[in-house]
Amino acid sequence: MRQKLAAGNWKMNGMGPALAELETLTKTHKKSACEILICPPATLLSRASEAVNGNPVAIGGQDCHANSSGAHTGDLSAEMLREAGATAVILGHSERRADHGESNKTVAAKTMAAWESGLIAVVCLGETLEERESGSTLKIVGTQLAASLPDGANGVNSVVAYEPVWAIGTGKVPTLEQIAEVHNFLRTELTSRFGEEIADSIRLLYGGSVKPGNAAEIFATSNVDGALVGGASLKAADFSPIIQALEAS
Ligand code: PEP
Repeated sequence: MRQKLAAGNWKMNGMGPALAELETLTKTHKKSACEILICPPATLLSRASEAVNGNPVAIGGQDCHANSSGAHTGDLSAEMLREAGATAVILGHSERRADHGESNKTVAAKTMAAWESGLIAVVCLGETLEERESGSTLKIVGTQLAASLPDGANGVNSVVAYEPVWAIGTGKVPTLEQIAEVHNFLRTELTSRFGEEIADSIRLLYGGSVKPGNAAEIFATSNVDGALVGGASLKAADFSPIIQALEAS
């Protein structure tokens, strides 16, 4: 059985007062049947991990460098995230791929670095609108999965998040059939590469405009083990009902 996961990506949002949202989440979901992960900006990592105290909310980074140290101004290593209290890191988010030109190869190198530091890698993939409209969604996500997720992946060190680029922050959501098609495909791809036991242990999150109003139906969709949530993870009042929908699924 895969443990359900509700992950929040705060992106470049959140200053000190936002920590109160974490305290509310921690109190509301003390006995959650799901794992909860919040990835705040790096400036809040230490304070966030102190605020949640490991349980029931875990803290993650939003990116890391592939190297463990060196002349990389502005970057952070996986080890640094770990030291600041992170237990996971989002890698290959479409905003990183677009804004920083991250390739699948880069994402794979960062994923290995995350594993070496004992972080869970939340590896993101997803097609653009143009790719969906040209009918190449499965080809694109299949290629991203194969090249971004290194050999050695398993359910302990990796989570895969399917995030159609056109659904992120837009309020547009794929149909449940479209989500199921991609998630079933990803599970099949993982099975042919890693075998059934490992493939069945890797959680597949859906991400892209998940809100309290659509969470339950998304969580009832085949091979959806949780969500990676952007905007609706910033406020406990929005994220809590999403977590509750996951708990009930
Ligand atoms: C994201 O950035 O990973 C995301 C899914 O954003 P949103 O929920 O705001 O669409």
